[in-house]
Amino acid sequence: MMGKLTVWLVVAGLAWLGWTLWRIGKRRSESGPARRPDQASSTAQARQTPPADSPPETMLRCVHCGLYLPAREAVSDTTGRSFCSTAHRDRAGSSSNDTPRQG
Ligand SMILES: [Zn+2]
Repeated sequence: MMGKLTVWLVVAGLAWLGWTLWRIGKRRSESGPARRPDQASSTAQARQTPPADSPPETMLRCVHCGLYLPAREAVSDTTGRSFCSTAHRDRAGSSSNDTPRQG
């Protein structure tokens, strides 16, 4: 009778001990330094970063108002000057030669 009870107590104690150790190990693995998520994030960042082979865009300055704008958006006249818009190109071109007239 007593021997059987002692065996059950030992089995229960071993089960409790193993369960406690398993919980501690699980907590440590969860709170400890995780390597898998870090690797996944670094891979995602490498994929998200765009390739740096695009050449730097040339910036031009409007002769009329002094505004800087990309070369592809600039307007140039026959003499090669750069402007931010056709209106400023017309103004700069007309103001130098034509006399201002009222109207
Ligand atoms: Zn301008």
